[in-house]
Amino acid sequence: MALIVQKYGGTSVANPDRIRNLARRVARYKAMGHKVVVVVSAMSGETNRLIALAKEIMPDPDPRELDVMISTGEQVTIGMTALALMELGIKAKSYTGTQVKILTDDAYTKARILSIDETNIKQDLDNGYVVVVAGFQGVDANGNITTLGRGGSDTTGVALAAALKADECQIYTDVDGVYTTDPRVVPEARRLDKITFEEMLELASQGSKVLQIRSVEFAGKYKVKLRVLSSFEDEGEGTLITFEEEDNMEQPVISGIAFNRDEAKITVLGVPDRPGIAYQILGPIAEANVDVDMIIQNTGADGTTDFTFTVHKNEMNKALSILRDKVQGHIGAREISGDDKIAKVSIVGVGMRSHVGIASKMFRILAEEGINIQMISTSEIKIAVVVDEKYLELAVRVLHKAFELDAE
Ligand code: ASP
Ligand code: MG
Repeated sequence: MALIVQKYGGTSVANPDRIRNLARRVARYKAMGHKVVVVVSAMSGETNRLIALAKEIMPDPDPRELDVMISTGEQVTIGMTALALMELGIKAKSYTGTQVKILTDDAYTKARILSIDETNIKQDLDNGYVVVVAGFQGVDANGNITTLGRGGSDTTGVALAAALKADECQIYTDVDGVYTTDPRVVPEARRLDKITFEEMLELASQGSKVLQIRSVEFAGKYKVKLRVLSSFEDEGEGTLITFEEEDNMEQPVISGIAFNRDEAKITVLGVPDRPGIAYQILGPIAEANVDVDMIIQNTGADGTTDFTFTVHKNEMNKALSILRDKVQGHIGAREISGDDKIAKVSIVGVGMRSHVGIASKMFRILAEEGINIQMISTSEIKIAVVVDEKYLELAVRVLHKAFELDAE
């Protein structure tokens, strides 16, 4: 008998039929003698619908109230899921994040989980219940409802699996696993049987939408056994996220290609090349809770230098006004500009550690297509480039082929 957490995404709970289907799968696991905790997302499209509603009233919605609204999608699906299980004669009970007490910080719309009170869930499981928990939401120390960022139900699933010391966390989605890249861009993309946790972390952080990055971080921290599976197929092993690296000889150099259309580039031109400048530029940005991804600073030639970084597209204007109002005059920067017509493409693979020339190969492939590279950043197992948005699909396709990720 195992304890299994099953997380179902929006497409898996999109309508009553799919919820019934989900309930039948849960019933099968229950019949095998397992304890099952189900985490559900909102019905697909629902979170977007709620955000749009909020924006109709207030274009830049107050984040506390936005969380009050967008957490309701999951409250509907937990109730429906519990009902569907009961209809199959299974004892089931639903919980919102607040009811469980999934305690988070107070960063509305992107809160982090601090702790989970697993007492009630454990008791219910011992009493034969299937416990259904709302994904994506928590509660802060003052009782305010918070949400965990888009795709946050994955994190709820993994965090619960960690708190309950579950044997496996299964993430059911509309694809049957993790692919070498998005099959909508490259039809030849292949499903991976296994991927290392580190690679999954890089892929998620570089824009792969299969798993929310925080869920992968959690899985790594607590060594949660994580598997991505299709909710539309009963067969199939999906993709297992592993913690052991295979023999390097067998490891492909590159395991996957991620891309991200959601970032914007901000450039600060002509800043004095002296200690403290990076802090003066990025300090106010961080204070405003704007996440910064890539950062580049040139070596200064004439006593000045240029500073470029990327933020989420939605936060470009906020970042630009902070820089123009609070920073530019202060540090005497010549010009501040933003560009949201960019995309980031990243190749990821633990095999990079034992192979040289991967970066130059990537740059050559892009050069052969006439694609200009605007920014570069690397880690031990990743090379990421920023290119003009219009070249994104071409870049992913040629790299996928050149690194032999295509299906045999
Ligand atoms: N419903 C939320 C969203 O769309 C959370 C999730 O589905 O994981 O982002
Ligand atoms: Mg998702």
